[in-house]
Amino acid sequence: MQCEEIQELIYLEAAGAADSAMVAAIRAHLATGCLACQATRAEAMLASAQLPLNLAPCPPSSKVKDELMRRVKSVAASSGAMSAGHPQAPTQKPTTGKLVMWPLVISSSIAAAFLLIAVLGLQTNQQLTNKVIGDVTTLHQLKKSLAHEVAQTNAISVAMKNAITSEHHKIAVLKTELTTAQGVEKMIGSPAMEMASLRGMPPMHSAWGRVMWNGKMKMWKLCAFNLPHLPNSKTYEVWMITAHGKKMPAGLFNTSSKTQSVMMTPHVPPNPHAMAEIAVTVEPAGGSPQPTGAVLLTGRIG
Ligand SMILES: [Zn+2]
Repeated sequence: MQCEEIQELIYLEAAGAADSAMVAAIRAHLATGCLACQATRAEAMLASAQLPLNLAPCPPSSKVKDELMRRVKSVAASSGAMSAGHPQAPTQKPTTGKLVMWPLVISSSIAAAFLLIAVLGLQTNQQLTNKVIGDVTTLHQLKKSLAHEVAQTNAISVAMKNAITSEHHKIAVLKTELTTAQGVEKMIGSPAMEMASLRGMPPMHSAWGRVMWNGKMKMWKLCAFNLPHLPNSKTYEVWMITAHGKKMPAGLFNTSSKTQSVMMTPHVPPNPHAMAEIAVTVEPAGGSPQPTGAVLLTGRIG
């Protein structure tokens, strides 16, 4: 059964109108630990417990009143007769002393009845108060446990959001790498591809690299190996050099701290055919308009 149906049954139960099958259905559902329905039941029981407290007192009908008075009088009459030691006394002529006793007996019976009603009323009120206190305590506990569950759910949702963001970032990096790899594959797979070697200059004897380009596709790639990873204050800068020795900045890079290598796309000048040489220097972060550091890698591309 759905929570909505169960909650309707819960209100019927609280109003005392649920049959045994309905009560069984409610118990079975609550036993599953449904917090929403447990809260509804506590509320419904609280509301039904408070109902009598809110009812306005109503005077009894004259018929009820007459019947009550008749009973009180008959009790008083028999007790009066008993105290006089004459069980058959009501039919006999009463003495003056007995007549004086009558109102006293009646008024004390009425007082006893009122006292009984007052005591019963107090007891009922006390029971209701206890029940209300119990239900309020249950509601308070439910509220606390719900708040705890909500906090837990929120924490899980934040963790999941972070995990998703991190996965999105990884996917973006992989997409970029895939696009680069596909570009390189296209460039290498074309007969128009050309390549030149870059050799390490002192003190970077072990450094080496390759420059690949495809004039038709206007694609360039530079790979460098065994070049130490630079601190943030410095950068490697690529230079395209014409046959006349004019040096043009062609991009910045740093090598990976793990592999000491890189593959980057140089910014090729408008007329790459006029270029004779390519070189790499170390420059301050942000690069320089003209080389200031020693050449570490160089190769002929003419
Ligand atoms: Zn439920």
